[in-house]
Amino acid sequence: MTQAITPTQRTTAATFTGLKCKECGAEYEAKAMHVCELCFGPLEVVYDYSALSRVVTREKIQNGPKSIWRYRPFLPVETDTPIDVGTGMTPLLKANRLARRLGIKNLYIKNDAVNMPTLSFKDRVVSVALTRARELGFTTVSCASTGNLANSTAAIAAHAGLDCCVFIPADLEAGKVLGTLIYAPTVMAVQGNYDQVNRLCSEVANTHGWGFVNINLRPYYSEGSKTLGYEVIEQLGWQLPDHIVAPLASGSLFTKIYKGFQEFVKVGLVEGKDVRFSGAQAEGCSPIAQAYREDRDFITPVKPNTIAKSIAIGNPADGVYAVEIARKTNGAIESVTDAEIVDGIKLLAETEGIFTETAGGTTIATLKKLVEAGKIDPDETTVAYITGNGLKTQEAVQGYIGEPLTIEPRLDSFERALERAQTLDRLEWQQVLV
Ligand SMILES: *Cc1c(COP(=O)(O)O)cnc(C)c1O
Repeated sequence: MTQAITPTQRTTAATFTGLKCKECGAEYEAKAMHVCELCFGPLEVVYDYSALSRVVTREKIQNGPKSIWRYRPFLPVETDTPIDVGTGMTPLLKANRLARRLGIKNLYIKNDAVNMPTLSFKDRVVSVALTRARELGFTTVSCASTGNLANSTAAIAAHAGLDCCVFIPADLEAGKVLGTLIYAPTVMAVQGNYDQVNRLCSEVANTHGWGFVNINLRPYYSEGSKTLGYEVIEQLGWQLPDHIVAPLASGSLFTKIYKGFQEFVKVGLVEGKDVRFSGAQAEGCSPIAQAYREDRDFITPVKPNTIAKSIAIGNPADGVYAVEIARKTNGAIESVTDAEIVDGIKLLAETEGIFTETAGGTTIATLKKLVEAGKIDPDETTVAYITGNGLKTQEAVQGYIGEPLTIEPRLDSFERALERAQTLDRLEWQQVLV
């Protein structure tokens, strides 16, 4: 049985009023639950937007903390002292060299490869989920993870002094496993893929009364991704972009960037305009791209087989909503091969000095494919979301990058090596020119 939960006393005027089913509209109290008891649809947090538009201003936001908590009225927590580990306000970089290589003009990279504390966008959703978990009285927090979520949950739980037990597929990259173990949570490495891990966790959530950030706390967790929308608006000088490209795992992040944009328009913080939403998947796990391509409004689950493990979800919970958004905004959802993902990682590194993980490689490879297919106008202000750091998935590029030139500690040895390197460089250029 789930543990009985009594919400802590409200310490501030909460701007959210409860939960609501995305399918049938049934309403619930803001407790730890994520599916509708009537139709099994997903639950979403509801806000009082007319109250919000009276209290929020650009100035108040700009004078707020340098973290996602500058947007606190738009997040589903009641406390004035959320768990703030400096998550958010990551750089929005004008990517001129990458843009030129791709043949477009106005490209920006939203760089969550340097998010705090664990170098992925997951720190956003976990900061919100654990703040809410604490308010709801949970003392043990947990998650079903493809890697980054476990890093984030373990780190932020450590900071907040919460007990933590995370579940991961047993075959994750070494950097992701180490990046969880260092915070000393209990780690369950499940011999199965993410979808099997997730199913197991749903059972544990029902029997142990733990706060699973992406299961029973999912409505709160997913709201954290809206900050990826808010920050881009603020960093573009209070303007919406024309086109965004983001990776899709469960599809949650993608749909919440959309919700974030809409909310800022609704409360009058930014002028409305059409924004196109394009999604990126790895071919070895592309159930959302397939549904989009075949113009279906249901998802057929797949068995993941790709190097992009962080986005390898075969049965994506928010897939149908992602398809709907891509369709109605005149965007697209594309998938790319593992080889293209590696090339995408290298391209971003070589042109912009950003080392991203496989999910980011998927996004850049998809961006390239969309430009080549004429689906991104060269003049559009386009934002590509880079969601994770390359140091965590070093296996993916091993064997596809150069090697250091080993030399003796003498000037003549260096000169000889340099000449060899330059000759090699010239040969490569000649091959390109032929
Ligand atoms: C989890 C994750 C995503 C996608 O998340 P969803 O909200 O489930 O679609 C994208 N990139 C990285 C690096 C992730 O870890």
